[in-house]
Amino acid sequence: MSNTNLYKGETGEWEVVIGLEIHAQVVSKSKLFSGAATAFGADPNTQVSLVDSGFPGMLPVLNRECVRQAIRTGLGLNCEINKWSRFDRKNYFYPDLPNGYQISQFYHPLVGPGKVLVDLSDGSQKEVRIHHIHLEQDAGKSIHDLSPDKSYIDLNRAGVALMELVTEPDMRSVEEAQNFVKKLRSILRYLGTCDGNMEEGSMRCDINVSVRRPGDEYGTRTETKNVNSLRFMGQAIEYEVQRQIELIESGGSVVQETRLFDPTKGETRSMRTKEESNDYRYFPDPDLLPLIVEQAEIDELRESLPELPDEKVNRYVTTFGLKPYDAQVLVMEKETTQYFEAGLTDIKNKKEGPKLYANWVTGELFGALNKESLGVTESKVSASHLASLINLITDNIISGKIAKDVFGYMWTEGGSPESIVESKGLKQVTDEDEIRTIVADVLAKNDAKVTEYKAGKDKLFGFFVGQVMKAMQGKGNPEVVNMILKRLLNDE
Ligand code: ADP
Ligand code: MG
Repeated sequence: MSNTNLYKGETGEWEVVIGLEIHAQVVSKSKLFSGAATAFGADPNTQVSLVDSGFPGMLPVLNRECVRQAIRTGLGLNCEINKWSRFDRKNYFYPDLPNGYQISQFYHPLVGPGKVLVDLSDGSQKEVRIHHIHLEQDAGKSIHDLSPDKSYIDLNRAGVALMELVTEPDMRSVEEAQNFVKKLRSILRYLGTCDGNMEEGSMRCDINVSVRRPGDEYGTRTETKNVNSLRFMGQAIEYEVQRQIELIESGGSVVQETRLFDPTKGETRSMRTKEESNDYRYFPDPDLLPLIVEQAEIDELRESLPELPDEKVNRYVTTFGLKPYDAQVLVMEKETTQYFEAGLTDIKNKKEGPKLYANWVTGELFGALNKESLGVTESKVSASHLASLINLITDNIISGKIAKDVFGYMWTEGGSPESIVESKGLKQVTDEDEIRTIVADVLAKNDAKVTEYKAGKDKLFGFFVGQVMKAMQGKGNPEVVNMILKRLLNDE
């Protein structure tokens, strides 16, 4: 193991151990056990059925699409699918939980063990194992800050389907934990099973953290609840690591407890210890039959899975010669890949074109988007126009340098690259006679340097190229310029 992830304490080095429990809201039009809508941002309590509001005698009816979404998710994360699973009641009292219990899967989850490959900044990959994924209902929302003396309840979220994904304690650094969530989010968005919107709460993480001496048994962990951004996740882990190390080094010991993250302070604080923890008295929900999934349905879902990020990276690397890191940057966001692949069909030079085009997407295009804080779907240059620009380069109509100017015009003024090259007279000059005249003129004006060059100062060649290009306003075809310069300098 590399030592770079270790933390230095007063008494030596410590290793962090991290396991995540992630709640991901299932993309579906209606809730897990009712027909009520799930759209985000609706007026409070407008998307609530009698089932969601816990009316006596109401019966839950399982939404098959939510089950299919969870199976897709499991397949996309290389997990086993359990053909027999069951729903349990998790009993507790809370004002935003009208039934007095949450329907979840405690003993027999729908999705079993799997694994995710996490991409790290040093180019390596780390496998993080998934323990299981189960389906459960979300609760409603209590609102305490609208009135000084009242609390309000919004049940729109009550009953919405969640997937709870539990990892093994396999992560050993903030980067591994953050990049795990990034990769998971990317895969779920490709699959279309969760929109991955952390700000709207579609993905929330509970972070289990412990520290140990490298090579020792696992230490006692704490669990920090409901962290909803990657930055907060990093802060919560760093804070917990420092707190636990100081505690142990000063002779204390970590108490297994649930903690809350305070984003304004960047700190975690105790919420409840294990002794105070609820006994949920899980038992099978008597209103629901066991969930049976047929092999034929699993096969059908497996066959309809889209190409996922890891497969795309492999394909881009082997067929277009991209570097793995560049390919990862292209595929991370589904929308970027879609942009890339939309223009790819227009690329004429199938050998060098795709790689050049990819470099332009991650270089020039990303640069322009970042400058104006735009997403790729808001790009002012369409994929097919960018592809046409690449074609102009590979067809030797413009140089890569002029192409940057053309891109600038495309971004600010709009229009196709061909029309810009035409109207601004940016076409590359390849005509040998025209270039020879200019080269001869440059050499005549610099006869002292020509003498030096002929005496052996080879380095001056670049100077001559620069002068010719300057005289041609950058429009000379570099290969032709080089060839003619060599010829005239060597008196051929
Ligand atoms: P419980 O049964 O008490 O809920 P689990 O074994 O299900 O505990 O683990 C819950 C989460 O805590 C998992 O994500 C797991 O990876 C993580 N975890 C377990 N032990 C540790 C540990 N020593 N340090 C950090 N995380 C841990
Ligand atoms: Mg648990």
